[in-house]
Parts: sequence; structure tokens; C-alpha cells
Amino acid sequence: MLKATDLVKVYHTEKIAVTALKGVTFHIAAGSFVAIMGPSGSGKSTLMNILGCLDTPTAGQYILDGLDVSHMEEQDLAKVRNLKIGFVFQTFNLLPRISCLRNVELPMIYAGIAEKERKEKAYNALEKVGLLKWAAHRPTEISGGQRQRVAIARALVNNPAIIMADEPTGNLDTRSGEEVMAIFQELHQQGATIVLVTHEPEIARHTQRILKFRDGLLREDEGVQEPVQAR
Ligand code: ADP
Ligand code: ADP
Repeated sequence: MLKATDLVKVYHTEKIAVTALKGVTFHIAAGSFVAIMGPSGSGKSTLMNILGCLDTPTAGQYILDGLDVSHMEEQDLAKVRNLKIGFVFQTFNLLPRISCLRNVELPMIYAGIAEKERKEKAYNALEKVGLLKWAAHRPTEISGGQRQRVAIARALVNNPAIIMADEPTGNLDTRSGEEVMAIFQELHQQGATIVLVTHEPEIARHTQRILKFRDGLLREDEGVQEPVQAR
């Protein structure tokens, strides 16, 4: 599903060059549930930006769902991003003035999907995260854990190849964080491919595999990949 080979990322600032990734290689099979960990400055955000097709590597190769995106221009990269990736953010990034349903519909509005299909899929996604009865409410009317579940519904509504989550429990209390992880586990059991960044070992232990980074290098790869499942 996702193949990173010898990924290097160099940032050029005015005076110095910073090598944020120093040659990183790993594969993530379809249907995997993976956590990325590492101290601040270890290259996690840089890696997530590349894996999420928000940026390209300076050197090395990144193949996503059979597509070599290593050298793509921003326009094409944006297409791949919209087509293949569902994003979940630490701060939820929901629009506060529109309903949860409408928030979940947004990616499909951008994709030009007709209203009837949109509504159907949005309701389905909200059902998957257990929030059907909150569909008409605004994000401001529900708890933090519920907001993140709406954001997960939005991430999965276009049936992406990968769900990428950056510190998805970072703004949640323990119980809401556990609820969010339970949703991810359910999606994983249904065949979704999920990659998340977390600082918390308690959160990472809900996944199947932990990639630990330090100083721009992959230092540990814990856990065993399950056999490839259909999505
Ligand atoms: P993490 O997410 O693990 O904290 P980052 O990927 O943000 O790590 O950063 C890795 C290294 O790259 C750090 O030394 C950081 O200062 C540097 N870095 C990240 N982004 C930039 C940038 N846009 N310009 C210059 N240096 C950067
Ligand atoms: P949960 O995350 O399991 O829903 P909570 O303690 O967050 O548990 O919420 C308890 C109940 O109150 C739930 O039915 C939830 O939907 C509802 N609820 C939570 N926050 C709000 C809110 N700000 N306004 C209205 N109802 C809320």
C-alpha cells in the first residue's frame, strides 16, 4: 500500500541546511494500523507531510497505492491527496457553524458528488463512528471526543486508501482518547489502513505496529504486520 525507500528530506534555511530525514525505508501493507513515534525534532511531521502527499522527498522514493508520487508537482499531488488520503488532525478542523452532517459532506462537495449520494454516504460515515443522532447538531454542541469522531467520519467518507492522523488524541481526555482509538480499531478490523502519529505509548499500544524515529532515522520497528486484507 505504501512503500518508502531511502527517504531523505533536506530543508534549506537562509544559512544552513537541515536534514530532517536521513534515509528512511519501510513498507506498510494494506489493512495495517501503524503508530509513528519519536521525540520532538525526530522527523515525524516531515515524514507525515511526505506520506500525506503534502510535500515530496529531496531524495528517495515514495510509492502510494501503486503510484510513484516522489517527484509529483503540487497540482497532481493535490489530486492524489484528495483521492487517496483521509486526514484527521489534533484540533479536529471542523467548521463550527455548519452541522456535523455538512462537515462530513464537505470532501464530497469538493469532489463534485451529487447531493443524494453525498447525504447517504455522510449518514453512513456518521453511523460508523456512532454519531448518527448528532448529525444535525453543530460541532460546538458536542464533546471533544465526539468532534474527533465526526472528523474521522469526514476522513473516511471518500473511502480513502489511507487514513492519516496527526496526534488525533492530543486534545482529548483519556476516556475520549480511548473512544477515538476504539473507532480506529473498528475501522482497522473492517480493513482500513491507518497511520497515526502519537507521543503517548498508551495510545500507540492500540495499534499493530510502532515505528520509532530519532534524529531523522527509523530506529525501531515493533510489532508484526497482519496478513494483507482487502479494503
Ligand atoms: P517532529 O515532527 O518529530 O518534531 P519535524 O519533522 O518537525 O520533527 O522536524 C525535523 C527536523 O527538521 C527538525 O530539526 C526541524 O527543526 C527541522 N524542520 C522541520 N521543518 C522545517 C522547515 N520547514 N524548515 C527548516 N527546518 C525544518
Ligand atoms: P460520550 O463521549 O460517550 O458521548 P460524554 O461524557 O462526552 O460521553 O457525553 C455524555 C452525553 O452527553 C452523550 O450522550 C453526549 O452525546 C452528550 N454531550 C456531550 N457533550 C455535549 C454538549 N456539549 N452538549 C450536548 N450534549 C452533549
